[in-house]
Amino acid sequence: MAVEQDVRHCTRCGAPVAAGEGPRAVPTCTACGHRHFRDPKVGVGAVVRDAEGRLLLVRRGVPPARGLWALPAGYVDAGEDPREAAAREVLEETGLVVRCGAVVDVYPGGGGASFFLAFEAALVGGVLAAADDALDAAFFPLDALPEIGFASTQDVVARLRADGRA
Ligand SMILES: [Zn+2]
Repeated sequence: MAVEQDVRHCTRCGAPVAAGEGPRAVPTCTACGHRHFRDPKVGVGAVVRDAEGRLLLVRRGVPPARGLWALPAGYVDAGEDPREAAAREVLEETGLVVRCGAVVDVYPGGGGASFFLAFEAALVGGVLAAADDALDAAFFPLDALPEIGFASTQDVVARLRADGRA
């Protein structure tokens, strides 16, 4: 995962860069006026259910929401397919192999990402074992969930419960 580093000196002329104000400010060179656009950080996660309909969640080992539960998720690397990124994160955090399909929804940032895409994902194989950024990983029945850390995961749960009643 790349660490965010604000540009302090112009990549064109080396002069100091003015940061500007507000979350959408574009840092601008004080000498040549070159604007240093920042790329959004894209978060992706997977909605994985087992044969009993239980939902795969991971207990987060890193802030924000450390110690709380959420969809297995992470950042898309440059040049990486978002579905493959989500599947990679599931494998890294839970040991499970999934194939990502339709987008459930696109959410505003909350876990450090600029925005977050949740994908439906089919369980293909692997052996469940928490690793990487996850303290724990488990399947939960929708009526017996642990404490959820993110609004996006809560929304996914609400949708699954609504589907179950439909
Ligand atoms: Zn410059």
